[in-house]
Amino acid sequence: MTWSVKDAAKLYNIKGWGQNYFAVADNGHLIYQPKRSARQIIDIKAVVDDVAARGIKLPVLIRFQDILHDRVNLLNRTFRRAIEEHNYQGKYQGVFPIKVNQLREVVEEVLEAGKPYRMGLEAGSKPELMAVLAMNRADGLTIVNGYKDEEMMRLSCLGVKLGKQVVVVIEKPGELDLLLRAARETGVQPLIGLRAKLSTEGSGKWKTSGGHAAKFGLSTPELVAAVRTLKAEGAIEHLKMLHFHIGSQITEIQAIQDGVKEATRIYAKMRKMGVPLEYLDCGGGLGVDYDGTKTSNDHSINYTLDEYARGLVYSIQTVCAQEKVPEPNIVTESGRSTTAHHAMLVVNIFGSIETGASVIPVDETPDDHVVVREIRDALKDLTLEGIGESYHDGLRWLEEANSLFRLGYIDLEEKAKAETLFWRLCLEIRKLLPQAESVPEDVQRMTRTLHDQYLVNFSLFQSLPDSWAINHMFPIVPLHRLDEEPSREAGLVDITCDSDGKVDQYVCGDRPRDTLPVHPLNGEPYYLGIFLMGAYQATMGDIHNLFGRVNEVHVFEDDQEPSGYYVEEVIRGQTVRDVLDDTQYSEYELVKMVKTALDTQVRAGALKPREGVELLDYYEAVLRQYTYIDHGPRAAVGLTAPAESDTVPLT
Ligand SMILES: *Cc1c(COP(=O)(O)O)cnc(C)c1O
Repeated sequence: MTWSVKDAAKLYNIKGWGQNYFAVADNGHLIYQPKRSARQIIDIKAVVDDVAARGIKLPVLIRFQDILHDRVNLLNRTFRRAIEEHNYQGKYQGVFPIKVNQLREVVEEVLEAGKPYRMGLEAGSKPELMAVLAMNRADGLTIVNGYKDEEMMRLSCLGVKLGKQVVVVIEKPGELDLLLRAARETGVQPLIGLRAKLSTEGSGKWKTSGGHAAKFGLSTPELVAAVRTLKAEGAIEHLKMLHFHIGSQITEIQAIQDGVKEATRIYAKMRKMGVPLEYLDCGGGLGVDYDGTKTSNDHSINYTLDEYARGLVYSIQTVCAQEKVPEPNIVTESGRSTTAHHAMLVVNIFGSIETGASVIPVDETPDDHVVVREIRDALKDLTLEGIGESYHDGLRWLEEANSLFRLGYIDLEEKAKAETLFWRLCLEIRKLLPQAESVPEDVQRMTRTLHDQYLVNFSLFQSLPDSWAINHMFPIVPLHRLDEEPSREAGLVDITCDSDGKVDQYVCGDRPRDTLPVHPLNGEPYYLGIFLMGAYQATMGDIHNLFGRVNEVHVFEDDQEPSGYYVEEVIRGQTVRDVLDDTQYSEYELVKMVKTALDTQVRAGALKPREGVELLDYYEAVLRQYTYIDHGPRAAVGLTAPAESDTVPLT
């Protein structure tokens, strides 16, 4: 059977997670479809070449700003449709929680797209509030969440004076007094929301954001106390919103339905206590199908946006009908689902480590040590039926070689030969596996570790913090050569010196895999795209090993352009100097110290004065460079994995 680009699309499950924003073209390139259809296509490899021609180095983050636009439209239209279908009496009015991606261009794009829907913004901290107060439109909601001090309350009052519709959501009892005091002092009163701590837990990784142990929210007695306080203060008419948030990336629609029903019940009972609530804010939680499996595993969701919207509308309506209270306006704070799809990271592979590659000759010689001879025999005698036996023989003799080496009985050359032959045996065993009827468990385990490692020019800690911190999965796909069958399996490792700097799980077909199918390196650049990175990754990354923020380009579709797009903006990533400066090294001091060392060498006659000047220039030039690796691709460098270990890594 011949390989086609359709097979590639299936292998990497592009339809599953790509929401039709991405597809494979006949030339084997991955393409971006701003309209979610083949009507308009942009060749991502061409964008990468274009960006490289402008001197922008990899890794580079590409933002497809039109996807943001599309997501905002989709969210609002879906809710409007659900409301119409159910003849629901309230409106939908979303806010974008900027914590998910605070970049100004992202927030601007969301606001621009959200104009027809009066989409507002949500802030969860003082710096976020400072940005939101300035940026948000007057006809959208400005929702203030998170722990608040007096200053945040005064800032919220300032927002009212700026003409914004500010809702301060009370997260813990003491905040109410702070808010009322700020209101008295400033003479303006923001709208008030109460965040309810529900007994419903979410589902998925963040499920503890809800439930009794949640960090935020008011318990039932605290809600009742807040209502009493507000009545006593004559401020109850400002209490307009009930808020809840049961976690991010909720994987099961059932959890969402349970949560909203419980919250609506609280809303209804509060209405009956005479509280003039108008908004029910259902928080975030709308998930993203990162692995494209449409299941309730942690990386997926078992529902669609349509189901989410209809589920909320229907559940709220049902409870309101039972309780005979008016249907509230529905607010959601969908961050992840709004921004995840629009950003991707382009990385290049700059080398590979082939497990078991032979870098020294292992031809038979008369003076071969017995351990070498024995492993060679195990290799020679290998048969389909005797896989287990040969492997165990080989392993035993390799262990023997290691202990002989530790005791000083064999030299380094002999140990190298033994290891090389052992890996050759393992590789031969792997070739036989597909025909073998039963394979011992330890052999299976061994062959799973035999894959290559591809060296990726990026830092997992900087660019994919959730992959490291919580084993979050992001789809990774070659950007070209997809018309060619990916004949190798590789694990991806980053360029930090941290052994955690690797990707452990890959989106593949309908279940995750331990390795990524890739193409053999051929001396040409090899690019991978890491997708769905637009939510939470950028601002949580750190400068482990001092790899800094990456270059970034913002791409807009434009059917007037022959290429179908234009690059609106380039944000340069950090230089070596920038990251050093972040860790308190001043460029001036560093250069001075290096100059002193050079001067000493010149005085000692170890360097010519001209060399001293050149070397200092060179040092200063590197300070201005990008922090990542900067050379073209290399063919396989062929380091053997066990070269530096004298233990057997396979058991
Ligand atoms: C984080 C957070 C959100 C965003 O959640 P998503 O799942 O990304 O949509 C919304 N509201 C609150 C209160 C949050 O803490």
